[in-house]
Amino acid sequence: MTNLENELRAAIRTIKDYPKPGILFRDITTLLGAPRAFRRAIDELVHPYAGLRVSKIAGIEARGFILGGAMAHQLSAGFVPIRKKGKLPHDTVRVAYSLEYGVDEMEMHRDAIAPGESVILVDDLIATGGTAEGAVKLLRQMGADIVAACFVIDLPDLGGRKKLEDLGVQVRTLISYEGH
Ligand code: AMP
Repeated sequence: MTNLENELRAAIRTIKDYPKPGILFRDITTLLGAPRAFRRAIDELVHPYAGLRVSKIAGIEARGFILGGAMAHQLSAGFVPIRKKGKLPHDTVRVAYSLEYGVDEMEMHRDAIAPGESVILVDDLIATGGTAEGAVKLLRQMGADIVAACFVIDLPDLGGRKKLEDLGVQVRTLISYEGH
């Protein structure tokens, strides 16, 4: 394991049985609160894209906003929020996406991204990939060129990374945890 992986792992807190029994919740608030680990995580997420012209970072509510804001600053890119339905004030595009049990909808402002703009998608964690898949659909509906989807944490046993790769999206993650 690299030094960075060790530092990130030490900074992420795991909470058993949250929000319901059987879930191991990977809590990144402790990572966000650790100045050095937070900076290193952001530096590592953006470094492959530093020389590219990335136009926008699209962050998934809510933890993707915090990571995405920092990434946007670092890459001199704009930031676009992807939110749960009903939260954005202007004209939106909306997609349904699958959750562990059932479906929900997410939205983005219709004028947030112009066709052909290069976009990096970000969230804290990818599990089944249902959430990120919904975001990819929204971005593609707007004609975005998705450079990559970035996550601090991968839960590879749940298959989300593969789901995105099968959609032709390049996936970047920093650490992975076995199981769910
Ligand atoms: P999925 O759509 O299954 O890939 O789930 C990813 C979304 O749910 C992300 O927005 C995560 O923040 C959240 N999530 C799913 N599983 C966990 C977990 N074990 N710990 C923390 N967040 C999770």
